[in-house]
Amino acid sequence: MTPIQALHKYFGYTAFRHEQEAIIKQLLNGGDALVLMPTGGGKSLCYQLPAVLLLGLTIVISPLIALMKDQVDSLNINGIPAAYLNSSQNSEEQQDIINGLKAGKIKLLYLAPERLFSSESRLITFLKSLPVSLIAIDEAHCISHWGHDFRPEYLMLSHFKTEFPAIPVIALTATADKLTRQDIQDKLALKNPAVFISSFNRPNISYTVAPKKNSYQQLLDFLSTHKDDSGIIYCLSRASTEDLAADLRKQGFTAEAYHAGLDNDTKARNQEKFLRDEVKLMVATIAFGMGINKSNVRYVVHYDLPKNIEGYYQETGRAGRDGLPSEALLFFSAGDAFKLQRFAKVDGNEEQSRIMLKKLDDMVKYCQLQTCRRQYLMHYFNEPFPDHCGSCDVCLTEFKKFDGTVLAQKALSAVTRLNQRFGTTYVIDFLRGSKSEKIREEHKQLKTYGIGTDVSKADWQRYFSQLTNQGYLQVTDDQYPVLKLTNTSDAILKGQQKVEFILAEETAMAAEIQTPAYEGGLLQDLKTIRFNLAMNENVPAYIILSDATLLEMATYLPQTLIELGSISGFGEVKLKRYGEAFLNVITSYSQQHGLSSQISSKRAKPAPRSKAPRSTSAGNTQRESFDLYRSGKSIAEIAAQRSLSPTTIESHLCSFIQTGEMDVAEMVAPHKMQPIQNAAENYGTDRLAPLKEVLGDGYTYAEIKAVVSWLKRDL
Ligand code: ADP
Ligand code: ZN
Repeated sequence: MTPIQALHKYFGYTAFRHEQEAIIKQLLNGGDALVLMPTGGGKSLCYQLPAVLLLGLTIVISPLIALMKDQVDSLNINGIPAAYLNSSQNSEEQQDIINGLKAGKIKLLYLAPERLFSSESRLITFLKSLPVSLIAIDEAHCISHWGHDFRPEYLMLSHFKTEFPAIPVIALTATADKLTRQDIQDKLALKNPAVFISSFNRPNISYTVAPKKNSYQQLLDFLSTHKDDSGIIYCLSRASTEDLAADLRKQGFTAEAYHAGLDNDTKARNQEKFLRDEVKLMVATIAFGMGINKSNVRYVVHYDLPKNIEGYYQETGRAGRDGLPSEALLFFSAGDAFKLQRFAKVDGNEEQSRIMLKKLDDMVKYCQLQTCRRQYLMHYFNEPFPDHCGSCDVCLTEFKKFDGTVLAQKALSAVTRLNQRFGTTYVIDFLRGSKSEKIREEHKQLKTYGIGTDVSKADWQRYFSQLTNQGYLQVTDDQYPVLKLTNTSDAILKGQQKVEFILAEETAMAAEIQTPAYEGGLLQDLKTIRFNLAMNENVPAYIILSDATLLEMATYLPQTLIELGSISGFGEVKLKRYGEAFLNVITSYSQQHGLSSQISSKRAKPAPRSKAPRSTSAGNTQRESFDLYRSGKSIAEIAAQRSLSPTTIESHLCSFIQTGEMDVAEMVAPHKMQPIQNAAENYGTDRLAPLKEVLGDGYTYAEIKAVVSWLKRDL
């Protein structure tokens, strides 16, 4: 069986993500690998799939018992025999597993590191008697002092290579920094490992920072748009997690608190409730989350400022593991930053304090950005990224309007006084009372001369173009274009009509998230049946099937088992076990509502692309959109297929205009080129919003972005 066949058969997925395929090949060839992939990127599959293909046993080291259980449940449900050994089991249960291992009935064995090499444990001797074929070390940064989560017991793992010199080892982490990376390699004694660094971008997460004012009310507003969704709210202090959880419960939300000060039973209980969707909201300190694999977390809120970008990014990364659109919302106040400064100082260690303060400073900068937040994050992780992601609050900013009637009257009367015989520059200079000799002497005697001195030249320019766009003025087509009144100008001058202008200051609009059209009622029905199945199997619902899989079913309405098999997430075993149950729900819903299968509009399964190993894959997501575009798909189709907004896809395509691989004419009509170029020359290309405003409704952001990319193209 090839890796792609196994991917489909056991996991029900159609294509590899990131560099999964190259990583898997490296292991199948017997080499070591170090894998850096963001949270939710799909690390587990990198060793689970080879484990299925290789003869013998794969040992997986993982730091958390909760995580092991989750993964083992998932694997078993997919028909892959897996087990874990840990202190939560009684000796009988442990013996069962030992017997299973001896009989060669288990493909993957999960272990906590401390179990393995402890002196009284003979586990390692036992494992050496088994046909071990692969060793996987999850959360490998725990071995490094440089990482943010050092665990001394991980140091014992350095014995692996001496005990199993010929067995390939894969180390995986979501921490990207170079020191940690080198440390992992050294401490695990990896042999000439292939290093795979995936893009750290999480395109389905949108980032928003809001001022921390009335934050409780803001939070309630936000939550009211996420009534049925699971989410995590991070607070700085233990006390505030409990207070906020209690307040939210009073508002009718199912919320629990989680922090390191709670006793183990309470922690385990609260976490379990969250995993099983009995509690939608977890209000937690950063103690919560590592090893939480729950794939349908729809949002992560930071109620207080995080201490550094690393932590923030990891915490936000817990949203949207299923690939569906998800949100990260942070409340920022300067007061928080000030408070954290005191915490950042490490007594008696100036060097450490300096590093912590710098990290805090970078965090604050992120909150105060006027440019794309995703770009900042990617640059922070040393990854190139275009300057407009289309799905952070800065990129989605819209302009506020104000009453500009008086300004409009001044502008129009200037045009009138000058007998409609001058161009914009002259009229503006005239309004601003320019002393220049370019302004005719007789004009300097007019009453309107200098009535607009309080407005800057650039602002006047923006107002004039808005007046033109709104039809209150027109510009002649002559060699020396002049401003003329229109038949609507009079109403303004007489005060019969108001004019609105756009303020330079911005307000963010809610991130518009694009999901393909689906049957909402059916989705609810599917969730209900999934919930029942999960209860029967005694596992969290997302282990049965992810939300993404349910959404696909509610979108494409498969009517037969074969059609159901082409829904992503249905492996062979799941199809056999649960296919019928889901199919019944879909067919009866379809009959009731007169709907038929839409499966033919689902894309044909893409042939797996073979990628060169060892390359860093920055720009892969852009490339994926571009390839789809080249295959003849429209931007809307690509957006739906990739669960990204059309704006994001446009941005992706624009990056290929910049590299010269795509012709700007594919996105912009020829007659629109020059006006956009002119605007870019006048207003710069740092931000697109002002250009859009100057150019008006006749020009889309995509067209502007395309020309700007073209202007910046690598020549
Ligand atoms: P990580 O360990 O990197 O945080 P996971 O291994 O938990 O991420 O994977 C995140 C989610 O993505 C899981 O639900 C997993 O089943 C899913 N996934 C992994 N690989 C693929 C793929 N090739 N196609 C579709 N979904 C995938
Ligand atoms: Zn952005």
